[in-house]
Amino acid sequence: MKLFAVIGKPIAHSKSPLIHNSAYKALGFKNVCYTRVLLENECELKNTILNLGLDGANITVPYKEEAYRICDELDEISAKCGAVNTIVVKNGKFYGYNTDAPGFIMAADEYKYKSVLILGAGGTAKSLAFALQDKNPTIANRSSQRLDFFKEHGFGSLTYDELDSSKKYDLVVNSTSAGLGDGALPMDKDKLTQILKNANGAIDCMYGKITPFLALANECYTLNKDGKDMLLNQAFFAFEKFFEDVKFDKEAVYSAMKESFNI
Ligand code: NDP
Repeated sequence: MKLFAVIGKPIAHSKSPLIHNSAYKALGFKNVCYTRVLLENECELKNTILNLGLDGANITVPYKEEAYRICDELDEISAKCGAVNTIVVKNGKFYGYNTDAPGFIMAADEYKYKSVLILGAGGTAKSLAFALQDKNPTIANRSSQRLDFFKEHGFGSLTYDELDSSKKYDLVVNSTSAGLGDGALPMDKDKLTQILKNANGAIDCMYGKITPFLALANECYTLNKDGKDMLLNQAFFAFEKFFEDVKFDKEAVYSAMKESFNI
């Protein structure tokens, strides 16, 4: 029996169990199950994984930084950005990966971009910034405090007030949680309109709804999408890590995972 879980708070809304279990079903895995765990306190993350006897876990908001801290080994991107969303447990040792980053890169592929503006400076922005390092991304945020991390790592970073909206960015990514419940845009509407009109594409990391950011991108006739593909891709890459020692049909896994969004 192999057991996996997504761990976070809140967790009831997570699509990860559906996505992963759909893949197990498609491959005919009999003794594998993926569940969800609501964790109240980050100090309990390591013990929870061990006590449940998990073979692996996906870690979501707000525990990706704690996940980074409890790992014995890290992949390159998680070591750089300080956030882990996938843990594989082998012989009691924790191996940490960040599959959000390659998941995003794959999702953004269709936009053919050379320059990127990332709105927001939280955990997601950190993984995206390192994933997009070769495009020299600019990070913009509402407040200046969180920009210090990006400055220290050599990224161009600005507050929204400092951002020059006449500058062209091919791809604009919203990694803020603005619009989650408040219907707000992440930044001033006029400024963002100009930026979106100049862009080839826009992606909101949030998924499952037309956020104010995506609605504005539509008004500007800028190609756009939500974070569904990013979610799907990170799940696929996590699956690859969970079943590194197993030969499986990658296309079957990807299409079963994709199909699960229609359930
Ligand atoms: P964090 O809490 O780490 O960061 C939140 C960021 O949003 C901060 O930069 C904050 O700015 C900004 N922000 C919050 N509210 C507002 C507002 N009203 N106006 C402007 N800026 C605001 O969040 P994460 O980086 O972990 O997650 C961000 C989003 O990405 C979430 O919606 C999450 O669901 C999504 N996500 C999607 C994934 C996917 O697979 N599709 C994977 C990972 C994340 P400040 O510093 O000024 O407070």
